Amino acid sequence: MKCPICKSTLVEKSANARRIVKGHKFTFKNIPALVCENELCGQIIFDSLIIEELDEAVATLEPEDLLKGIITYEEIKKRLALLQMN
Ligand SMILES: [Zn+2]
Repeated sequence: MKCPICKSTLVEKSANARRIVKGHKFTFKNIPALVCENELCGQIIFDSLIIEELDEAVATLEPEDLLKGIITYEEIKKRLALLQMN
């Protein structure tokens, strides 16, 4: 798959996704992504399934998570697994 912006190769990597959650700057860390190998471009593409997981993860965030401002993909997976058990 090629980068839609600069046509360089996209490589599978983990990347950080940033969002504003309830007015807090929030970072989702080590999220699987396709990253453009052209450092000057640096385009990051997340799969739609990953985006859905991030959306679900937002619903699990507690006030202390928002204060920390960061959650790892591992922690997201743990929480989503717990949600499915309940
Ligand atoms: Zn690119």
